[in-house]
Amino acid sequence: MPVLVPLGVLVLSSCAGRQTTPAASQTPQPARPEASEVWSPVPRVITPGATNDAPPTDALVLFDGTNLDQWVSVKDGSPAGWKVADGVVTVVKPAGDIATRRSFTNYQLHIEWRIPSAITGSGQARGNSGVFLASVGNGANGYELQVLDSYGNTTYVNGQAGSMYKQYPPLVNANRKPGEWQTYDVIWTAPTFHADGTLATPAYVTAIHNGVLVQNHVALNGFTLYIGKPFYKQHGPSPILLQAHGDPSEPISYRNIWLREL
Ligand code: MG
Repeated sequence: MPVLVPLGVLVLSSCAGRQTTPAASQTPQPARPEASEVWSPVPRVITPGATNDAPPTDALVLFDGTNLDQWVSVKDGSPAGWKVADGVVTVVKPAGDIATRRSFTNYQLHIEWRIPSAITGSGQARGNSGVFLASVGNGANGYELQVLDSYGNTTYVNGQAGSMYKQYPPLVNANRKPGEWQTYDVIWTAPTFHADGTLATPAYVTAIHNGVLVQNHVALNGFTLYIGKPFYKQHGPSPILLQAHGDPSEPISYRNIWLREL
């Protein structure tokens, strides 16, 4: 094999080198633990939240229960028109999707959601919403981590809660009952593009649902489309979008949304 030839040459030349310094080869240096220690740069010190769901000190809080100042209406950029009450924001479907005012590249996101206990409907028409981890092109495209009541509600598996919509089903179904709060913790790695707009590296998603791994560093094939084959289109930093789905079921709620840029 051609690979072995240069390796052999390397070994031979290495041995030859040692032969010129016999003292060194006869008294090998003892391995020292210090030789493999790294002391800098020192990781930044942050203070974690009081619980693992609470924002650490370096998080950007996107919704703390009081207002939607960090969010806008996707259709016209006006203030987000969803209902804030009792520390919770509830989808107002006629107001449409909302998105973060700011744009992001790579991040860690925490978000909590609750299907109302009085939910009705079935399949995709039962508490459908979604977290678009990057919303591209005025909400027309992006990468959706599905939100849906998947507690005993059958639908296509790559469209159930915890799926990367129509690309990756969740590894397990970790849904809680309607009426109970659920968490998503997500690591988003944005795709990168060459100067000519072609894909350099795909988007990667790791997602944890209620403390359970449901997406393990999956490489997306492009936008998570309702119809058709996924594709990529070049984009830069993008907002995060929450979906106001058109199904007639009761609107769901979100709370405690924060993000750490990576
Ligand atoms: Mg959805």
